[in-house]
Amino acid sequence: MNFRERLKDKKRIVIKIGSSSLTHKETGKLDLVKLEILVRELSDLRNQGKEIVLVSSGAIMVGNHMLGHTGKPQNIAEKQACAAIGQAKLMMIYQKLFSEYNQIASQILMTKNTMVDNLNRRNAKNTFEELLRIGSIPIVNENDTIATYEIEFGDNDTLSAVVAALIGADLLILLSDIDGLFTDDPNTNPDARFIDVVEHLDSHLMEMGKSTSTSNVGTGGMATKLTAAHVATSAGADMVIANGNDFHVIHKIMQGRNHGTLFLSDKKDEFFLIDFLEKM
Ligand code: GLU
Repeated sequence: MNFRERLKDKKRIVIKIGSSSLTHKETGKLDLVKLEILVRELSDLRNQGKEIVLVSSGAIMVGNHMLGHTGKPQNIAEKQACAAIGQAKLMMIYQKLFSEYNQIASQILMTKNTMVDNLNRRNAKNTFEELLRIGSIPIVNENDTIATYEIEFGDNDTLSAVVAALIGADLLILLSDIDGLFTDDPNTNPDARFIDVVEHLDSHLMEMGKSTSTSNVGTGGMATKLTAAHVATSAGADMVIANGNDFHVIHKIMQGRNHGTLFLSDKKDEFFLIDFLEKM
């Protein structure tokens, strides 16, 4: 069976973009050409009748640059202030670009509490359902301006998988600065082989991701991507990790072409998600 072919029929898709895929390496400022391609790709998926949720990082980074800082924000208050400024700016740009394609972008900011608290979780799910019903593209981020250590997801890889599980998405696409999963770290081991499809995410694979990350911008490395794969596939979604270097990869993935690593859904016990979050 060609597992890639079945990606064509996916209906409810969560797409996660890392900070490093949104910004210019040299300056750390927003890459507007890339953003424009991202928005066009997502708008076209909407035009095909698919339901789309975008999980976008970048709030802290954008805020930091708006304040003219060159180094990373140092303390929590500074990070949260940067997020407050940057999130508004990011949304302004998304709103502008999506409206050019006649799409209605909306914003959902979440913390871990949103998921762990039954009432909050139900409300969040209802809001997603209603936004998707009316054809909006929800843009999700962690509510970094108020999230503290106790209530944070900590990275958007995990957040995007949790969102996919919450809304019963059938596909999660993680776009970052890595091509996918390798048998070892390709930066240090020239014999590392690329893995095209993962049918079962076993403990051996989970271990492998622990020490590999090439990103120095976002918070997630390979380990958080494998955790995301665990959550998403257990909840019944397929997941693809691919390079966000060129966002045209989105329609190529949706056409069933060989890009990135595909993790096949492996649906487990329905209470898994909350258990997982409570232990996090
Ligand atoms: N929520 C953070 C932000 O928007 C990013 C977290 C991550 O990179 O995973 O800046």
